[in-house]
Amino acid sequence: MRGWIAILAASVLCGSCMTAGRPPIYVPDGPLVVAQQSLGPLSSPVPRAQPPSRSLVPIAFPYTPHPDWIPTQTNYDPGRDGASIDYIVIHYTAISYARTLKAFNIPASYVSAHYVIRGDGHIAQVVGEADTAWHSGNFYFNEHSIGIELELDDITNPAFTAEQYYAVAALACAISARHGIPLDRAHVIGHNEVPGSTHSDPGPTWGWPHFMYLTSLCAPPNASTVHATFVSETAFPVIDTDEIAPVSIVLRNTGGTAWRKGTSQEARLAIRGNRTDLVFLSDRWPAADRPAAQSEDIVPPGGTGTFTFQVKGTVPGTFILPLRGVVDGGAWMDDLGVYTVITVQ
Ligand SMILES: [Zn+2]
Repeated sequence: MRGWIAILAASVLCGSCMTAGRPPIYVPDGPLVVAQQSLGPLSSPVPRAQPPSRSLVPIAFPYTPHPDWIPTQTNYDPGRDGASIDYIVIHYTAISYARTLKAFNIPASYVSAHYVIRGDGHIAQVVGEADTAWHSGNFYFNEHSIGIELELDDITNPAFTAEQYYAVAALACAISARHGIPLDRAHVIGHNEVPGSTHSDPGPTWGWPHFMYLTSLCAPPNASTVHATFVSETAFPVIDTDEIAPVSIVLRNTGGTAWRKGTSQEARLAIRGNRTDLVFLSDRWPAADRPAAQSEDIVPPGGTGTFTFQVKGTVPGTFILPLRGVVDGGAWMDDLGVYTVITVQ
């Protein structure tokens, strides 16, 4: 048993740290034997490639994660010495979920993580977020980060699954909301990116573009994630009284949260300063100070959103309509000085 523990301690966390190949394959213990999957050969990483799914029913994402609290009694340091939580570090286990949880209760292994995500997307929380887990091999980063282990194991979970991507993205969004960690690649990193790291996990089969796309779908909209640049707008309308004309503004999402129609992440076009005195120009605007909402269902970071509305001529004159994007569930977009001029003859 002692020898087994020694092998376990050396091999747990990131099989890449083993320089002489993978550890021996053990017969899986406990009830965690899963049916053999027909995954086919592992393909090379492709941006947004769809990982294999283990669920028979589609998962509605985003969702709120509900980790199972399975705390280690030994492998953590209480508190963080006052350190701020600034990073999320992604790992894989190189052994089964069950063995990972066992190792996290063996003091001699000197390893743990805050969360472990099983191949089917189940989340175990092993260390409280206020406490320091032993996952990154770097004392500073351990105190300043939250570590998430993904089960990746020759027998129990030979490839990252769709459910694991959903679970880790949902978890990252919840952690971001709790601690204000930006969901970008400067703050969400792999173990291999920890300074001084000798590990290569999460490795070449981990799909960063797919994962970051998923996090954008649940990233809390706030002043750090809501940003836009101007792309285009239609010509200033010239209309007669009682005539109606369309106006269309296109903005690019340069923030970290997707714009999602019908959610707290929905992007809208507002009249700057929430002015309502221009509502006499309205033709069926959603609100007196909100001429339009995004047309698209989802505008991910880097994508463009179109905001189309109609103005109506009521009295002759020239009217300036100052416009600014907003995610009402979170924050104003950058003030880009966008406006349209309506001339009513
Ligand atoms: Zn690792």
